[in-house]
Amino acid sequence: LADNYDLVVIGSGATGMTAAIQAHELGLRVAIFEKLAALGGNSRRASSGLNAVETFVQLDQGVIDAQSSFYADTLKGGGGTNNPLLLNYFVTHAESAFDWLYRHDIILTDLTAMGGMSQKRAHRPANKSAVGNYLVEGLQKQLLAQGIPLFTETKVLKLIKDVQTEQISAVKIEHPQLGQKDITAKAVLIATGGFAQNQTLLAKYAPQVLGRKTTNHPGATGDGMALATAVGSSLVDMNKVQIHPTVQQDGDHVYLIGEGVRGEGAILVNQAGQRFVNEMTTRDKVTAAIDALDENGATLIFDQAVREAFPAINFYLAIGLVWEGATLADLAQKAGLDVAGLTETLHTWNTSQAQGTDVAFQRATGIERGLNHAPYYAIHIKPAIHYTMGGVKINALTEVLTDQEKPILGLYAAGEVTGGLHGDNRMGGNSLAETVVFGRQAGKEITKYVRTH
Ligand code: ADP
Repeated sequence: LADNYDLVVIGSGATGMTAAIQAHELGLRVAIFEKLAALGGNSRRASSGLNAVETFVQLDQGVIDAQSSFYADTLKGGGGTNNPLLLNYFVTHAESAFDWLYRHDIILTDLTAMGGMSQKRAHRPANKSAVGNYLVEGLQKQLLAQGIPLFTETKVLKLIKDVQTEQISAVKIEHPQLGQKDITAKAVLIATGGFAQNQTLLAKYAPQVLGRKTTNHPGATGDGMALATAVGSSLVDMNKVQIHPTVQQDGDHVYLIGEGVRGEGAILVNQAGQRFVNEMTTRDKVTAAIDALDENGATLIFDQAVREAFPAINFYLAIGLVWEGATLADLAQKAGLDVAGLTETLHTWNTSQAQGTDVAFQRATGIERGLNHAPYYAIHIKPAIHYTMGGVKINALTEVLTDQEKPILGLYAAGEVTGGLHGDNRMGGNSLAETVVFGRQAGKEITKYVRTH
């Protein structure tokens, strides 16, 4: 641990690691501080994919997509409230982010669809394994190969502003052996993630979500919002908290059941065995439909073909989250669903699927396959707090802004800690894309700043 660096990155999620690698490759001396023993934050838990358009993967698979469609889908998913400058930077740089990963040996050549997407644009590893873990491990390999230091169990307590220059000039850390220490930096990047684990902040900004469990890792306590506001930053969209519709939470642990299960063909039913929503609409709408049932959640139904297309299901099976039935009737009984209702629903769904139109709910993605390969499976799910859309106010250069929209010199933020990109509701696959798009942008912009200060 040195006393000074060009860049201090706070947080070891995909945002912080990407920014550190980019800045290091541009010549900066970088260190990453991570408060927990484990690295990867919420990024490591990401299950769906990384959204990008016009990639060679899409074209090789015959998917013709466009930045304009990516922009329109994200804006619609966000209720039209997304920050247009951030959104524009995002959709125009997702493909180069994807390529950057590819050149760093992080290869995402399988495609799937998430709720609200008009094309398959969520990229994931070829073997369809969990994308977040793969991404974090790939980035970690790069850190090691490039000799970029990462200090775990080292919490950043405070940002220090030089009173004369008004620039952020140091951070105060709590190191496991050295105790509290000031580390000088020419610039600081806040990449500390969201606040879904902070009950006080949730109660203050988003009391509507209190009482629900969360899918988040324990470090998601909103430290970045406190660090940034203490030196004059503005916060935006703090009341916007995403509830993920499909979370298994009947035991002690909370398990997010990736949207990819629906993307590959699973449907959702109520206790009568009936569908009640377009399963591939946005997360906020699916959650609202489940809440409206008033049945303590709902049940995902799928078959052996979906299981094979989404191998994470093997993990859910191994830990006992999944009911398995040799026949539909068998499954309905185990899952406590109406047998005749479920049988009728599957018959209708398979007929609609074969005809290519979902007459009941107009579902347009995840209908490539019917549900007719035994054995059949069911998972009981219920919505849980998943993502905090709001946070530190930045511009498209990742500069942290005051209430007067003035950049705080030497202070940058990117990833879940920031607010504005996603509007009212984030689309699946956009958070990982955000980490790499804005992580790279931060690395680049900070280098520019450091070279001239
Ligand atoms: P993103 O998706 O934006 O990269 P993540 O949730 O993946 O966000 O990662 C954020 C990381 O920042 C987590 O590993 C978290 O433990 C870490 N972190 C949060 N607050 C601090 C802090 N005060 N000091 C150091 N690390 C922090």
